[in-house]
Amino acid sequence: MEYKLLAEVYNNLESTTLKLEKAEIISQFISGVDQDELSRVIFLITGSVYPGWSSSELGLSSNLMMKAISKAYGVSVDDIENEWKTLGDLGLVAEKYSVQKKQATLFSRTLTVRKVFDNLRKIGDMSGMRSQDRKLALVSELLGSVSNPIEARYLARTVIGDLRIGVAEGILRDAIAGAFFTNIYWKETIVQKINSLTKLGLVSKYAKGKNIVVDSKIDSYLSEKYADLYGVLKSDNEVVVRDVGVISDDDLFKKKSGIDYVFLDESPTGNEVKSKVFGSVEHAFSMTNDFSAVARAARDEGISGLNKLHLTANHPIKVMLYQKALTIEDAFEIVGKPAAIEYKYDGFRLQIHKTKDGIHLFTRRLEDVTKQFPDVVSAVLKNVDCGSFILDCEVVGIDKVTGRWLPFQKISRRIKRKYDISEIVREIPVAVHFFDAIMIDGQNLIDTPFSERRKLLESAVDCDDKVMVAKHAVTSNVSVVDDFYKESLSKGNEGIMLKNMSAPYKPGSRVGYGIKIKPVMDALDLVIVGADYGEGKRAGWFGSFHLACYDSDSGEYLTIGKLGTGIKEKVGEGTSFHELTELLKPYIIEEKGKSVTLKPTVVIEVHFEEIQKSLTYSSGFALRFPRLVRLRDDRMPSDASTLDEISMVYGGQRGRG
Ligand code: AMP
Repeated sequence: MEYKLLAEVYNNLESTTLKLEKAEIISQFISGVDQDELSRVIFLITGSVYPGWSSSELGLSSNLMMKAISKAYGVSVDDIENEWKTLGDLGLVAEKYSVQKKQATLFSRTLTVRKVFDNLRKIGDMSGMRSQDRKLALVSELLGSVSNPIEARYLARTVIGDLRIGVAEGILRDAIAGAFFTNIYWKETIVQKINSLTKLGLVSKYAKGKNIVVDSKIDSYLSEKYADLYGVLKSDNEVVVRDVGVISDDDLFKKKSGIDYVFLDESPTGNEVKSKVFGSVEHAFSMTNDFSAVARAARDEGISGLNKLHLTANHPIKVMLYQKALTIEDAFEIVGKPAAIEYKYDGFRLQIHKTKDGIHLFTRRLEDVTKQFPDVVSAVLKNVDCGSFILDCEVVGIDKVTGRWLPFQKISRRIKRKYDISEIVREIPVAVHFFDAIMIDGQNLIDTPFSERRKLLESAVDCDDKVMVAKHAVTSNVSVVDDFYKESLSKGNEGIMLKNMSAPYKPGSRVGYGIKIKPVMDALDLVIVGADYGEGKRAGWFGSFHLACYDSDSGEYLTIGKLGTGIKEKVGEGTSFHELTELLKPYIIEEKGKSVTLKPTVVIEVHFEEIQKSLTYSSGFALRFPRLVRLRDDRMPSDASTLDEISMVYGGQRGRG
């Protein structure tokens, strides 16, 4: 397949902000892709050439990208840099110079998806001293082979890890469901669907000539209440009215039935169908963390194929996330009674995998940190005696002198350390506190209730002073929780967790299956999404940082303020301006005057005085006096504080409760 076709799809995706339309565009495209091309296409739509579980990354720095553009199109790096400052996007810069080059040389070659994918994989797999030159050669070879300028735009963006097509996981899930299953809509969503399709003139684009089966109840409802909209749809498509009972599972779950859309009444059937298709796609993704595997299974074997996908030890899955509550009563409200209560340890999270080849440790960003923690590997091997497993734990640093637990910032040095490991192992010993089990003895526990998982965890782990199971109790009583909370804080922990006893493990979701309560509610984890260069003694460094929270509904980062306090002037006294600037520079995706836009990557913990409503920032909130507390290099940007949490903290502030 020509890469040009994929570039056109990227372009269509970039031109709309509507999630429904994005899903439709991808769905139409992937349903027609050749058998052996599907995986590559899905990877490239996610902006990567690796599945989500892989630690491998493509992300080349903007600097190297400028050199590649220079080499491919014979333009000086200075010119490219100037153009970048004007256009604010290296993709557009590559596109512009590819046009000039094309006019000059009149070359026309065909760049294929396979060639792009293979070159990008080679780039990602390369490491070592001389790899930069070879990466440069491979990228410029690709840029030099484009026949359509938009190919250059998306190639450059893919290589620097910033595709800008606004395709979050939810959209891809809907697209896969739409491509390989009949599209099913029920009462509330049918009107929304027809409405947006007709209003935006999308019927003729996406829904013309489709086969639509309409449940008889819904047919009378639509004819009566939405006659105009429904009329347009009917005039453009083959609409057959049937009774739901007549639609078989095969009709619904196999594209080959020839039915494109089914409109159902809001009924148990509608919900069942919805959860069957979307639930299966989502579940398959949470188990594999690999959209290409999910798409292939959906295409080849439908629901049963999706259900066959399983967890694999050594392929990290996304960790389950927890919501925040301000009071114990609020927490009980969410997780139900009785609930499990646990210490909330202040360390960093590890997902520990064991296969027959040994132990592997992954951070919550899914980076493999096995080499950094030989002490954890040997302690876990000794104390967890079962076949393959995937366990969730918090690793806490221990003060060698007092034996007390150390706060997170001390132990974070161990995650970063790549040399003299044995020295730092002696300097900062750690203890492992297991709190959840995802697989034990090869058995998948994702759908097993938490109370059962906890029992299995307890019987799998032999506790000593290095390896433990999180301190845990079960209660419905607020004062018992209150005492437990005080006890936990007195031991130097961050707070407590309350957990729903019957809930499954939900990878990557912040569903309310677990709730954290901690005393410092004026601390947020925020993502740095931009920065301004400083002046005077801070010239050449960033002096102010644009902060954003995470909107878990849209998958977007919304700004909430700027920060310039809490950062040290001198290196060696804590996080300095110099250090932050160096850390952020590789993630610059746009430069305008003194400001840069950054790829959301670096997460920091921020304290503040108050949250106020604001029209200045896209979150609708602003922080008063934000101050940097520490870098949270164990967190993914999507682990940052969410918009919902911020509204909650805002509402809980004195006088607004
Ligand atoms: P937060 O980092 O504030 O979002 O809180 C959730 C984090 O607390 C988890 O990701 C774990 O790293 C950590 N944690 C510490 N103790 C526990 C526990 N008993 N159960 C779950 N998470 C825990």
